[in-house]
Formats: sequence, C-alpha cells, structure tokens
Amino acid sequence: MSESIEPKTTDKIPTESECETTGEESVALKAKDVEELALDFGYYETTIEIDSNKEEPAIQTAKFTIFGYRFAQIKWSNVIFLSVMHVLAVYGYIHSCVNPVHLFTLIFVIFISSASGFGMSVGGHRYWSHRTFKARLPLQIILAVLQTMTVNGSILSYSRDHRAHHKWPATHADPKNPGRGFFFAHMGWWLLKKRPEVIQYGHKVPTDDLTKDPIVYYQHKLYIPLVIVLGYVFPTLLPVLAWKENILTAFLICSCLRTVVVLHHLFTVNSVAHFLGDRPYDRFMKPTENKIINWISMGEGNHNYHHTFPWDYSNSEKTWYEIFNPATLFIDICKGIGLAYDLKKPSQHTIDSVIERKGLPEYFASDRTRNMCLKITIGFIDWIFGLLFAKWPVWTIAIIKIILGQRLIVLDNTFLE
Ligand SMILES: [Zn+2]
Ligand SMILES: [Zn+2]
Repeated sequence: MSESIEPKTTDKIPTESECETTGEESVALKAKDVEELALDFGYYETTIEIDSNKEEPAIQTAKFTIFGYRFAQIKWSNVIFLSVMHVLAVYGYIHSCVNPVHLFTLIFVIFISSASGFGMSVGGHRYWSHRTFKARLPLQIILAVLQTMTVNGSILSYSRDHRAHHKWPATHADPKNPGRGFFFAHMGWWLLKKRPEVIQYGHKVPTDDLTKDPIVYYQHKLYIPLVIVLGYVFPTLLPVLAWKENILTAFLICSCLRTVVVLHHLFTVNSVAHFLGDRPYDRFMKPTENKIINWISMGEGNHNYHHTFPWDYSNSEKTWYEIFNPATLFIDICKGIGLAYDLKKPSQHTIDSVIERKGLPEYFASDRTRNMCLKITIGFIDWIFGLLFAKWPVWTIAIIKIILGQRLIVLDNTFLE
C-alpha cells in the first residue's frame, strides 16, 4: 500500500497554486500543514514578488540581437553541442532507413531509451526532485546511471531547477519559464544563460538533501566524463562488441538519435503540457493534462495533476494499469522487490476536495462511475497507444525499410527480408 497523505484540515485544502496566487497568511499556514505531511521543499511560496514582465537591462540596450537575444546572453557551447547532436540524430534516422541495421540494435535502442527515460522520470524527477518515495542504495545507483545516460544535466542541477519551476512557476525565477514562450520552455532555456532572477532565487531552493547525497554529489562533480562514457561510449560499443553492429550505425542510433528523441519527449512536458490540454484538477494554473505528452514522456504528461500534487509518486491520480505510466509500474516493481518504499500518494478524499474547490468536477463524472474491468480495458488500450507513440522512431524506421526494400541483419549476418 502507498502512504496516504491526509490534510490536517478537511474544510479547505490548499494547493500549491492557491497559496502562491492568494498570498493569504491563513492559507499559507494550512498549506504548511499539508506540506509537513509531504516534504518541505517550499512548494508554497507566498512572500516573494517577481515581475514577470521585466526585461533584462541587457536586452533593453542591445543594438544587435539574435531572435531578441544579445551574443553574450547565448550559451554558445550548448548551441553548438545541441546543433551537432540534432544534425547527427537526423542523419542517424536517415542512415538507419537506408542501411542494414541489426535487429538486436533496434531492440537495444527500445530498451536503452526506456531505461534512460526511467532515469529521468523515476530518478531525476520523482525521486530526487520531489522525494515521492524512498529508494535503497542499489536503486539509487541504478537510477543515477540511467539519469546520466539521458544527457539532461546532472541530478543536482536538474533537481534544483525543477524545484524552482514548482516553487515560482511562470515567473522569471522559473528556469523554464513558459511565460517566455513555447520554444524557451521547450529547449530555449538550455541555449541561453540564466537570468539573474533564476540564479538569485535558485540559491533559495532547498538542496541540502541533494548536496549531502554522495551519489548526487559525485555524479555532479564527474558529470562530463560520466556522460561521455554512459551516454555515448557504452551505448555505441555494446552493439558493436555484442552482435557486431557497424560502429557508425550504433553511434548514430543508440547515442545520437536516442538521446535527442528522449530529451525532446521529456521537454514537451515543460512546453506542450504548459500550453495545451485540460486543467481538471486546478483550472487556475497553466500546467495541463495532455494524453499525447503522457504517451511520449512515459507517464509524465499528467501535469495539471502533478503541479497540484507534486509529492505523488505516481505523477497521476490513476495507477499504471488504468493509464499508460511505465514509470509508476517501474516504481511499483521496485517496491515489490524491496528496492523502493514509503511511496507517497494523496488520499482520494484529498484529491476530490481539491477538484471540488479548484478543478472541474464534471470532467470526472463518467470516469468515477466506471467499474474496474472497464478501467483496466481503457488502461490496456492506453498502453498500446503509449508504446506506439513513445517508440515511434524504431517502428517508423522498420516500416520505411520495408517500403524501401531494405533489410535488417540477424545474428549470423544473414538478412531478414
Ligand atoms: Zn511544470
Ligand atoms: Zn515536478
């Protein structure tokens, strides 16, 4: 059973956005009650004022800009790195369509993209950023290795930025501020130097639990060599050594294409899931529930729910057999074998109370009356769509190869027509 978090006050249950938007002392105190029952990462910030419309002085005085940004504001190392990776990813996709690819390589890329996705969703997000469950040391090490393979920044930098995103959403203290536009929220934040507010308020984000964690500390210290080995060298060499894949094919598919696709799938949670979709849990906040984003992000697309209940280990009101959520299934399996424990989840009463006050109760009318058999059937169909959407590069490459009359290679170097 998951740990149920009940509010101490049942008449009015504050949510993250309510406390941030009202700034009322009484509400903030009630929020503190709930917060203590979850984790004290300061989800309920009420005291700061950040002018979201204020432009940086540098932009106001700049004579020459690129898409509105001065040369000095752009993080050129990231622009060059990401540009090269995107070119290689596109080339890798075309290369795979018109050249023989080992069948095991396609199976391996499905496995490694899922595994590294878990590193971010289960590890970087649900475990280290939000502490929605507790993990034993072997699981922490596995998640840190998988998180490194995604090439999405160290656990420490990702978690600090993500806590700031929850604490001051859609302000200039939010490192991925959707108020700066869709592209900035998606990946523009990686191409620009941080605004002064992001750095200033980033220091106020509690990170003691992270800096005192030796796995997080050393992963951050050794991040570049670890990324080179785990993100690029290992995924390239394993197919070459294990089933004699061509080294260029292995590098392009298992390293370049895989990292770029997984990152874009995860980035859509910051971009699309802050602009498009339903807001049934809290209609006053920007984050949304978006089915397609949930499919491609392996269960991270229930973003309206997540910003309302960020301490829920499932990132969704529903569990993994009711909705496509491989990350929740992963955590439940880890719990079953003793690697994860203290899984946190708000009670149904808490969820319903919040929906009643801030959400759209009518949105859930049909869902609440479904029996378990129907819920599981809908969940099964959702998993089929989820797997199809999440792994689109692999099966589209296979289809294009069939259309073009190309061939896959099997183990003994005979061709699979
Ligand atoms: Zn968000
Ligand atoms: Zn989050």
